[in-house]
Amino acid sequence: MAPPSSRAERIALIGNPNSGKTTLFNELTGANQHVGNWPGVTVEKKSGSLRPLYGKSEIIDLPGIYSLSPFSLEEIVSRDYLVDEKPDVVINIVDATNLERNLYLTIQLIELNVPLVIALNMMDEVARDGYRIDTDKLSHDLGVPVVPISAAYREGIAELMDAVGHARLPRRHELPNPSLERMIALTESLLNDHLVREHHLGDAIAAGYPLHWTAIKVLESDDLVLRHLTLDDTSINRIEQLKRDFEDEHTLLCTAFADARYQHIQRTIAESYLRADRSDTAKQALSDRIDRVLTHRIWAIPIFLVVMFAVFHLTFTESLLGIPGLPGPGVALQTLVESGIEAFSSAFSTLFEPGSWSESLVINGVVGGVGAVLSFVPKILLLFFFLTLLEDCGYMARAAFIMDRLFKRFGLSGKSFLPMLMGFGCTVPAAMAARTMDNEQDRRLTLMLVPFMSCGARAPIYLVFAGAFFAAYADFIVFGLYLLGVLVAVISGIILRKLLFKGEFALFVIELPRYRLPRWRSVTLTLWDKFKGYLVRAGTIIFAMCVVIWFFSSFGFRPAVEGGGFGMVAIEGSLLAAFGGFIAPIFSPLGFGFWTAAVAVLTGFIAKESVVGTLGVLMGISEDSALGGGLSASVLAAAGFTPLGALSFMVFCLLYIPCMAAFATLKKEFGSWKWALGQAAYSVGVAYLIALLVYQVGGLFIGSPLFGG
Ligand code: GDP
Ligand code: MG
Repeated sequence: MAPPSSRAERIALIGNPNSGKTTLFNELTGANQHVGNWPGVTVEKKSGSLRPLYGKSEIIDLPGIYSLSPFSLEEIVSRDYLVDEKPDVVINIVDATNLERNLYLTIQLIELNVPLVIALNMMDEVARDGYRIDTDKLSHDLGVPVVPISAAYREGIAELMDAVGHARLPRRHELPNPSLERMIALTESLLNDHLVREHHLGDAIAAGYPLHWTAIKVLESDDLVLRHLTLDDTSINRIEQLKRDFEDEHTLLCTAFADARYQHIQRTIAESYLRADRSDTAKQALSDRIDRVLTHRIWAIPIFLVVMFAVFHLTFTESLLGIPGLPGPGVALQTLVESGIEAFSSAFSTLFEPGSWSESLVINGVVGGVGAVLSFVPKILLLFFFLTLLEDCGYMARAAFIMDRLFKRFGLSGKSFLPMLMGFGCTVPAAMAARTMDNEQDRRLTLMLVPFMSCGARAPIYLVFAGAFFAAYADFIVFGLYLLGVLVAVISGIILRKLLFKGEFALFVIELPRYRLPRWRSVTLTLWDKFKGYLVRAGTIIFAMCVVIWFFSSFGFRPAVEGGGFGMVAIEGSLLAAFGGFIAPIFSPLGFGFWTAAVAVLTGFIAKESVVGTLGVLMGISEDSALGGGLSASVLAAAGFTPLGALSFMVFCLLYIPCMAAFATLKKEFGSWKWALGQAAYSVGVAYLIALLVYQVGGLFIGSPLFGG
């Protein structure tokens, strides 16, 4: 095929979330892309130049959105871009397995009257599910070129770019509601009269808002458009009167518009969407039957908890199903990695002069610290493996749906569940995911709560302490900590909602995708991403932290009897011991008021894995054992941890301030220091309080601590 004519200099790519936008964008641009933020707002902006194969244009990836109404920042950004920047062509990528929902955006793009081409993506899935889409008919009915593609399999891309080269303005469509069409026509002529009278129609029309679209937006009471129009009072009153008359007789205008658009879509689809065989109805029926159980009004939550516990059990238990001698897969993997690290460490230590500072640095500082963190990677990957499986087969969408029902009862928006779920991975992307929330109140509230979700970096802490002190119940303890995080988030949500975030919350619409077998490619990709992330962090920030900790815990001012001066000292005399000892008393009521724990808590702010890394370094040095047996119960007990203190320590680490990277992200997303610091202070306060409760109340039961520890 000849290279497309390069009339189009700027192409915008727009579509629903998960429609394959990123996949198509990457295919179109290859490596030539830049990522940044839209000027003034924190919404991701990606642009790039086409690979020469496809032409010479610049392509802009607009945020994934469901509609062009100003519900979220993303939608406003996309709309402003289309109206103000006037790209030469807009590619609307549509998920063909979900036509009805996706075309809702398409209809609005047609209303906006931009040069449009539809990329009908995921055609491979459509075919596999036994459907056929008559794209010619669809294209005819919509009045827009429709090109079937499979972005993931690079099919139809050349044809798409060819259509882009010949893109035209779409044909105007009529909504299947005559009284609504009459309203639009009336409003248009009203706006037009105004235009003639005033010789201009405010900035909006001057900026090129199409009249038809403006009329629709005025009727939908779109504040942003209304503000741009400098209408006089008479016109405003006439429009208000029109709207009142319509709404008295029919229904709310915005409902009428949504209904009419969906009707229009359904009619269009009904004629172009063909079922090739019947197997699919059977599949759908099965999916529905499964859903009747899994989203049952009463059983849904217990089932969810059991599923989650099964995941934690498989990942963290010592003996599978409680059968002695049958280790869980996570434990088996970890033993393997640990013995590898140990072999490495003993082989390595022969290279150094015993007792030299270089041996100490490498064996205690690097292997002891970084190794302690790395040894947990298999278990954590296993946890994410199970979570990704659940997500890919469609269960997590159900979980969000179930949680929405529960959250609503407490006045929280279910929409915050998805960012929170991501919080189990890492707080940074989770906080960014909150951008998709419709209103600012909900978004801020979610930002306050997301850090309580236990991120992947915190897991090694639980694994060390649960493994050392509560090995037989490790799965229960870790599961309990994750639940505690969720519980604290929900309770905080209820409280903050009452105190700070009064008012309406947005409704949450989630569609339940059909159950399907997990796709190994996407599961392995997710895991590989996580694994790379851990390796990079272990090699950079954790490594650096361990070296710093090693230095300050190995050096200090020698006592006068040993000749004085600065140099290597026993760990008790180190600079770090002195500093840690100074702040340790703060933690006494929580059961870990000794300097090693205090230092670990502080380094946890740099990165949560550092808590384990630091303990690995410190215990390795003081035991002088090159961490032979790892961070075992005896090593931790020698440092001062009791089982109850360990529990309280885990709780504290779960809840206190997120790490530096998360804090920086929160600051950016809140857009203010005040809120970010408020979140930090709140989380430290909550962590202290609950850890205190655990240690003191726990003490009542086992009969020791009332203060001190
Ligand atoms: P975005 O949210 O719109 O950026 O969507 P992504 O590009 O991230 O794609 C969402 C998911 O759909 C990913 O798992 C992709 O691998 C998958 N995907 C994208 N295009 C296709 C396709 O043509 N066929 C199939 N089967 N999957 C696709
Ligand atoms: Mg994407």
